[in-house]
Amino acid sequence: MKRRRLGLSTRAIHGDPKARADWTAVAPPLYQSSTFTNPVGSTAEVLYSRYGNNPNQVDIGKKLALLEGAEAALFLSSGMGACALAHLAVLRPGDHLLASEWIYGGVHRLFREEFGKLGIDVSFVNPTQQRTWKKAMRKTTRAVFLETPTNPLMRVIDLEPVATLCKAEGLALIVDSTFASPVNFRPLEHGADLVIHSATKYLNGHTDVIAGAVAGTDQVVEEVRRLMQVWGQALDPFAAWLIDRGMRTLTVRVRRQNEIGLAVAEWCAKQDAISKVHYPGLPSHPDHELAKRVLGGFGGMLGIELKGGVRAAERFLKALTIAAHAPSLGGVETLVSEPRLTSHASLTAEQRAQAGIPDGFLRFSLGLEDPDDLIADFAQALARH
Ligand SMILES: *Cc1c(COP(=O)(O)O)cnc(C)c1O
Repeated sequence: MKRRRLGLSTRAIHGDPKARADWTAVAPPLYQSSTFTNPVGSTAEVLYSRYGNNPNQVDIGKKLALLEGAEAALFLSSGMGACALAHLAVLRPGDHLLASEWIYGGVHRLFREEFGKLGIDVSFVNPTQQRTWKKAMRKTTRAVFLETPTNPLMRVIDLEPVATLCKAEGLALIVDSTFASPVNFRPLEHGADLVIHSATKYLNGHTDVIAGAVAGTDQVVEEVRRLMQVWGQALDPFAAWLIDRGMRTLTVRVRRQNEIGLAVAEWCAKQDAISKVHYPGLPSHPDHELAKRVLGGFGGMLGIELKGGVRAAERFLKALTIAAHAPSLGGVETLVSEPRLTSHASLTAEQRAQAGIPDGFLRFSLGLEDPDDLIADFAQALARH
């Protein structure tokens, strides 16, 4: 008998549910052990937590694969570790990587500062201009990398034309899907070959773990695992256990954050002191139609521009009482950061303005507080600004 396909929430909680034996723990036990006994004389791979085969590590990998619709997935000790090894699994010296220029600052640095030393050439394109991808391709191009939605403008990239191009040219399409989480977007369903997450963000969701993940075919994930075993970015078992606990509420968290995001964005759009709101759920957003078509929800990430630039932004930030001024995102607490001091600190003020991120731009990661409280807090802080 063919089994019914389970919904996303059931998969996030149970993975692939099996009949339970009597007297077993309902919550997964934590295997806080670096090593495991191995049968004498066995030539099978030993169990050792750096190998990624600790039961806590294995369980969350299976769960993420089920959520992304991938053959396999593997968690690593950070999003940066996941990103580095995903690329090293598909690129060789002499290869060219074509990357979106709107990507996480750390990944931009990795490509700029490290990949050249490995003989991997990287060039960057504006991801919203479909024709630039093809134009920037070279004979040696082996992979394409992008992030969607992007930080901090929340631009949504249409994967399908890029995926069609990659298929035609035999390139791997690698997508950092951290901002969307598998609840709002599943890149593999849109033609991507490999998905990367900073699990530090929505997958864990509680601002208490650094982790990353890669999901894709068995073959590529096995290569990432092999690299992880020798380069050493395995996830600690307790971090894996916390991520398992976090993932159980992934769908309720992200769906609620979608609601809060829309409510706060709509309120912000009506304020005179706010000159611009960047949220894909608003009709004013350049990718609103695409977002409606491809996203399961518009997310909990919001960009706003205050009239009065940096000084107004700083007064507003100091007056906020609920949102914490901190980098990172995807947790239950609302966080706010200034791209000029974080993700876009390496650019000049003019370059930032040109990129559509003028000084005074604030990026919010909305948590799970009552939206009325968040809005009241914004209102009192704006009144002082
Ligand atoms: C945070 C982040 C990363 C890096 O992840 P870490 O877990 O901090 O190493 C990569 N990509 C995106 C989109 C991120 O937001």
